[in-house]
Amino acid sequence: MARAPAIEVDVLVIGAGFSGLVAASSLVRQGVECAILEASNRVGGRSKPGYLMGDPIDLGAQWITPGQSQVYELVQSYGLETTPQYATGNWRLRHNRSTKDHISGKSPLSFLASQDLRASLRKLDRLAQTLSINQFWTKPIAKKWDAFSVEAWKRTNLQTREARHYFDMLVRSSMCAEASEISFLHFLGVVQSVGGVQDLLLGQEGFQREVVLGGLHQIAAKMAGELKEHIHLSVPVHAIDQSKDGVTVYGGKKTYRARRVIVAMPPAMAGRLVYNPSLPARRDALTQRFPMGSVIKCFIGYDRPFWRTDGYSGHMIDLDSYVSFAFDATPPQAEYGVLVAFFVGDAARQWSEKKMEDRRQIVVNRLSKVFGEEAEHPMDYVDCDWAAEDWSRGGFSGYMPPGVATTLGDVMRQPCGNIHWACAEISESWIGHVEGAIRSGQRAAQEVLDWIKADDGIDIGTIEVHPNARSSEAIPEPSQAESELARQATS
Ligand SMILES: Cc1cc2nc3c(=O)[nH]c(=O)nc-3n(C[C@H](O)[C@H](O)[C@H](O)COP(=O)(O)OP(=O)(O)OC[C@H]3O[C@@H](n4cnc5c(N)ncnc54)[C@H](O)[C@@H]3O)c2cc1C
Repeated sequence: MARAPAIEVDVLVIGAGFSGLVAASSLVRQGVECAILEASNRVGGRSKPGYLMGDPIDLGAQWITPGQSQVYELVQSYGLETTPQYATGNWRLRHNRSTKDHISGKSPLSFLASQDLRASLRKLDRLAQTLSINQFWTKPIAKKWDAFSVEAWKRTNLQTREARHYFDMLVRSSMCAEASEISFLHFLGVVQSVGGVQDLLLGQEGFQREVVLGGLHQIAAKMAGELKEHIHLSVPVHAIDQSKDGVTVYGGKKTYRARRVIVAMPPAMAGRLVYNPSLPARRDALTQRFPMGSVIKCFIGYDRPFWRTDGYSGHMIDLDSYVSFAFDATPPQAEYGVLVAFFVGDAARQWSEKKMEDRRQIVVNRLSKVFGEEAEHPMDYVDCDWAAEDWSRGGFSGYMPPGVATTLGDVMRQPCGNIHWACAEISESWIGHVEGAIRSGQRAAQEVLDWIKADDGIDIGTIEVHPNARSSEAIPEPSQAESELARQATS
């Protein structure tokens, strides 16, 4: 005889990252009976707290930027505060075994290389704006751009070695994968979804504008506090059965029943579940072709922020090393100093195989080449290798290799029977970011509400989305002339 389900609700949400938490809280607010099943023993997913020098840090998502209306709305509603990323003083570029100082806003490259890079970034922006809003894979030109990698585009569009090298770092630091691995179309889709290439750049003039005091992870914890009785931790879901009556979800040793389920995790992780009946072939193919990027995020604590007294902001880019970039992450008011540094892309994969102690060694060694000998003597160190995290297996997000978006992009958000999908990867705007995860959760919750309305004839309401969204909807459709320009630019 079949075992009685541990829980029976209207809607199950699998995954308590931002997309799952937002989907569930949106539904609960509309009076829908809802439960979240989360594999890990904590909420937040790719937003995770850690400790350094006794204070909380963000081992996962950390920065937010004005224009991300939904995340700022949450910050405000929970009484949290933001503070600008520390950016006083010069930043430093390590290249060809020498270190140079740079002033924010000024290109660190030689005149020729900086012209080369600027022209290529302008071109990227122009091309990104010609894509279809919310569905970057649909225009006829998309097929052509999906046929090659970002690397191939770089080779035909950037002329100087220095600019190419810098461009590689920019791609790696935004996608956590190598330019050769990523579809040029997907990269453009991400650029479009964040409102332009500016937000993929590093630093105050790029994405790293603000942080949440005490950590961004607090937002997930506050949401979980409100959803308390709806959240079931340490429930790794391994299978979903569906019939015309609803779904049965198998998690740990228990079963859970609902009419609908929202799978709130990246396609690569959703593809690890067993579906009965099997998912449509194209949906399954998507989960096989949407790998996660690789990143190791490292925090280094010092007895004082010595780089500040030397006139540096703590931001550095190292084109010569595995440790690609770093920022000052010292909490305001702290007397000690903190730098946060990243291994991204292939470097993260390589250093994932090493011990944390070895990573600490190379990180402080590289920081000392940039900020001086004092960097060799940290008081504390901690890192998080996201590809090794059981329920994430990578970050910042997933990326599409060539050929995937134009053949399978349309199934990304399409429900499969009673199963709906949510995550930062499939968001219509701010792809790969917390803001995107939130919006994706809202969209999935709205889908479920629409279904309840159609099925039961009950209009429960709509999910409120903060109106000042700088979403892709704000980007006008390209004119015919612009599309022609894009065509010429790449032909
Ligand atoms: C190092 C790092 C730095 C980042 N920095 C930033 C930043 O500064 N700003 C920014 O906006 N974004 C940043 N991001 C990206 C951001 O964290 C993600 O886009 C966002 O958190 C994704 O949320 P999500 O809900 O889509 O997915 P996730 O957070 O991955 O949530 C999925 C959830 O599903 C759970 N799960 C997985 N498998 C199962 C299963 N079988 N059963 C049950 N539960 C399961 C997971 O445990 C997880 O809780 C960063 C990411 C990383 C890794």
